[in-house]
Formats: sequence, C-alpha cells, structure tokens
Amino acid sequence: MSAKQSSEEILSSHKLKSTACRKTVLNELLESETAMTEQEIKDVSGNLFDRVTFYRTLRTLEAAGIIHSIILDNNQVKYAISDMRQDTVHSHFHCIKCNEVQCLNDDAIDVKIALPPGFKTQSLDVMINGICNHCN
Ligand SMILES: [Zn+2]
Ligand SMILES: [Zn+2]
Repeated sequence: MSAKQSSEEILSSHKLKSTACRKTVLNELLESETAMTEQEIKDVSGNLFDRVTFYRTLRTLEAAGIIHSIILDNNQVKYAISDMRQDTVHSHFHCIKCNEVQCLNDDAIDVKIALPPGFKTQSLDVMINGICNHCN
C-alpha cells in the first residue's frame, strides 16, 4: 500500500463527493490487510448504513476504480482497495484455511498461456490458493 492517502483525498481525486458511507467503506478497506466481504465491512462499521446505500457505495467506488472485487470459487465476493501503483492485472492469494484474500503486489507474475489464433487477453485473474503465514 502506498503512502497513506486519506479517504477524503482519494474521493476528491476521483471527483466523488465525500459521503459518510463512502468514507467509512474506504477507511475500513484502507485499514484492512485483507480483502473484505460486504458483510464484514458492514459489521466493522457498526451497521450505520442501510443496505441500498451500502450497495450503491460499493458499486460507485468500484466503477471509479478505487476498489475492486474478487470473486471466490464459492461465489463469495470480497472487496479490496486498488493500489494506484498496481496494474489492474494482479494476482490474489486465497488462504484455504482462514478464507482470507490478499492482493499480491508482485508484478513479476508472467503467465504464458497459449491462446488460439486471433484471441486477445483483456484481463487476467490469477488466484493462488494456499495457506497464509498466520495459518501455516
Ligand atoms: Zn490463513
Ligand atoms: Zn486485488
């Protein structure tokens, strides 16, 4: 994570109004080392906002490229802050024991997959499943 920008700074740099819900969601994700589900963010923020406000906030932040979603095998969706230095293409580590997901900053990843002629990669989503340092 880069030198910490405040949630207000992030919102204003994306020309978004700084609402209480947007700030709360951003602050929780900025503080968390791992990706969080909508429910986890709700729980830590004390259920201050109604479901629709919360849902719209996540959509707005995702559309602005401030956060991104990670979809797990079981269709669970987690959200993480998008590091501006990071490529939009980066890999994730999923711990099979505690179910935590982390963005990996190592852009050394170089996956070579032979595509059929005429096919072009638009995005690549790499999920490494394993055991994290806390569970190991
Ligand atoms: Zn773990
Ligand atoms: Zn990520």
